[in-house]
Amino acid sequence: MSVETQKETLGFQTEVKQLLHLMIHSLYSNKEIFLRELISNASDAVDKLRFEALAKPELLEGGSDLKIRVSFDKDAKTVTLEDNGIGMSREETIAHLGTIAKSGTADFLKNLSGDQKKDSSLIGQFGVGFYSAFIVADKVEVFTRRAGLSAGEGVHWASKGEGDFEIATVEKAERGTRIVLHLKSGEEEFADGWRLRNVIKKYSDHIGLPIELPKEFHGEEKDKPAEPEWEVVNRASALWTRPRTEVTDEQYQEFYKHVSHDFDNPLSWSHNKVEGKLEYTSLLYVPGRAPFDLYQREAPRGLKLYVQRVFIMDQADEFLPLYLRFIKGVVDSNDLSLNVSREILQKDPVIDSMKSALTKRVLDMLEKLAKNEPEQYKTFWKNFGQVLKEGPAEDFANKEKIAGLLRFASTAEGEGEQVVSLGDYVSRLKDGQDKIYFLTGESYAQVKNSPHLEVFRKKGIEVLLLTDRIDEWLMSYLTEFDGKTFIDVARGDLDLGSLDSEEDKKAQEEVAKSKEGLVERLKSALGEQVAEVRVSHRLTDSPAILAIGEQDLGLQMRQILEASGQKVPDSKPIFEFNPNHPLIEKLDAEPDEDRFGDLSHILFDQAALAAGDSLKDPAAYVQRLNKLLVELSA
Ligand code: ADP
Repeated sequence: MSVETQKETLGFQTEVKQLLHLMIHSLYSNKEIFLRELISNASDAVDKLRFEALAKPELLEGGSDLKIRVSFDKDAKTVTLEDNGIGMSREETIAHLGTIAKSGTADFLKNLSGDQKKDSSLIGQFGVGFYSAFIVADKVEVFTRRAGLSAGEGVHWASKGEGDFEIATVEKAERGTRIVLHLKSGEEEFADGWRLRNVIKKYSDHIGLPIELPKEFHGEEKDKPAEPEWEVVNRASALWTRPRTEVTDEQYQEFYKHVSHDFDNPLSWSHNKVEGKLEYTSLLYVPGRAPFDLYQREAPRGLKLYVQRVFIMDQADEFLPLYLRFIKGVVDSNDLSLNVSREILQKDPVIDSMKSALTKRVLDMLEKLAKNEPEQYKTFWKNFGQVLKEGPAEDFANKEKIAGLLRFASTAEGEGEQVVSLGDYVSRLKDGQDKIYFLTGESYAQVKNSPHLEVFRKKGIEVLLLTDRIDEWLMSYLTEFDGKTFIDVARGDLDLGSLDSEEDKKAQEEVAKSKEGLVERLKSALGEQVAEVRVSHRLTDSPAILAIGEQDLGLQMRQILEASGQKVPDSKPIFEFNPNHPLIEKLDAEPDEDRFGDLSHILFDQAALAAGDSLKDPAAYVQRLNKLLVELSA
C-alpha cells in the first residue's frame, strides 16, 4: 500500500451518527439492499463523469469504458465495489461521507418516536445511501480520486461506523471510487459470487452500465490466473430505453428506488416514448409516501434529465408544475442540446411543450389510479392531496382535470374521510339542483354540526365539508365543475334556486314581511356589529346564524392573513335569525329594550361561536349570559 499523508480523524455530524444507529437497528431484516445503494451511487458517479466529460473530455483520462466491478474475498471476508466514475476530492469525501446536507434532517430524526425508529420505511424516506454499508460491515474503507486530479491526490477514508472516520491522502492511479466492506461476523454470506450475482440481478438489473463480477474459476488452484476474468451480470441498458413489454413490474419498482432514493415501492408509473415534432422518453412515478421535506421550500424536486441517454442533471424542476413536485422519474430528450443548462431550460420553448405534455401524463396517470385502484388512490390522496390542491391556482389550463382528482369529506359520508369526488357529487345531484354546495371550517367536528347545514339536511342535499387550511383559498380559484357553480353555504343570501318550491318562496316572503319590525329592532340593538339583519331560510334548529358577505374574506383566509402579519380588511357579518325558533319568538315579544339588547347580543355571540370564530368581547358575553341565568333562577 502506498504512503498515507495528511492523516486525520474527524467526527461525523450528529445527524449521521443518529442515522447510522437507526439504520443498523431498522434495516437488519433487509440487509442485502446495501449493494443496491452502493451500486446506485456508483452509477450516479459514472453519470456525472460522462456529463462533465462533455465539456472536458480529458477527464476520461483515456478510459471511457465505464463500469462497476464487484468482487469479494472469502478469506479476508470482504466485498469490494469499484467504479471509474467521477470520484471525490478530499474535501468532497469529508462533506459527502461525513455529513447530511438535506435541510430539516435534524428535526426529522429528533421527532421519530420509539416505534418509528424500528420502521425501515421511515428511515427509508431518507435515502440512507452510502451509510447502508454499515448494515453488513463493521469497517468500511473508501479509496477515491476525483477525475482530473493527479494520482497523488487520492483519498483513503475509513470508518467503523461509530463516532468518527479517518481520512488520508494516498496515491490512486485510476480515477473513481473503490469501496471495501469488511463484513461483520455473521455476514460472511455476502463474500460469495452466487449470492452477489443474485442480489445484483434482483435490485440492480436496470442499471444502464455494466456491472461485472469475477467469473467463477473451476480449474485447479495452481492454474488460477492472477487477474480474474470478468463477466457482466446485469442487462446494462438504460431501463427507460427498453420497450414497456420487456420491463417487468419488479424492474420498474427497482428503477424507481434508484432514481428516487425511496425504499418503498411507487404507487404507479407511466412510461412513454414520444415521437414526432418533439422526441423524448419519460418514465414518471407516483411515490407511495410523502418525503419528510415535502413542504420545505428548498427540498429537492424535479426529474432526472438525460439528453440522448447522457445524464445531464438531477432535480430538473422545469418539466412539471410545482403542484406535482412529488413526482419522480426520468426524462430523456432528443431535442435538447447536450450542453443545456438550467438557465437555458428556463427559457427554452421546447421545455414548455414538454412540460404541458408531461403534466397531462401525470394527471392521466392519477385519473387511472383513482378509477382502477381506489384504495391506492386513497393512499395517494392522504400523502399528496394537499399539494394537488395547489393545482387549480397554478395551472389554469388543467383546472377541470385537477378538480376531478380532488377528494372531499361530505355530509353524505361519515367520519370526515376525504373520499368524495366532484364527479360523485354531481352524480348524486337532487332534481332541480344545479349547484355544488360546500362549507369550509377549521375541523370536521366543527363543520359537521354547523347550523349552516340545517336546511340542507332537511332537504337531503349533500354539502362538501372542507377543513384543510388551504381549502378556502382553493375555492377562490375553483368556481365551476362540470358546468355547476360552487356555492359556499355560509356566504351571502342563500338561494336554493328551484330546490325551493314556489310555495316555499312565497311563504318566505310572507314571513320576511311579518318580521320587518323585529329586523329593525335587531338592527338598532346590534348596531355596528352587523352589515345586515334578515330572516333566515337556512335554519331549522338553531335560533340564529352569521353569514359572510358575498365579497368578504372567510374565517380561514382571515386567520391565515392575520397569522402572516398582514392587515385584514374589516368586514361585518350578516345576522340571520330563524323566525320559528322559540327564543326568537320570545325575543320578538320582549317589551323591555334593555333585555332585548342583551338577548340579541347573546344570540349574536353564540352564532359567532358556532361558526368557529372567537368573540371580540368574551367577558361581555359571559356577563350577559350570567345576568340572564340569575333572572331565570330568581
Ligand atoms: P445520496 O446518494 O442520496 O446523495 P449517499 O449518502 O449515498 O447519499 O452519498 C452521499 C454522496 O457521496 C453522494 O451524493 C455523492 O456525492 C458521494 N458519493 C457516494 N458514492 C460515491 C461514488 N461511488 N463515487 C463518487 N461519489 C460518491
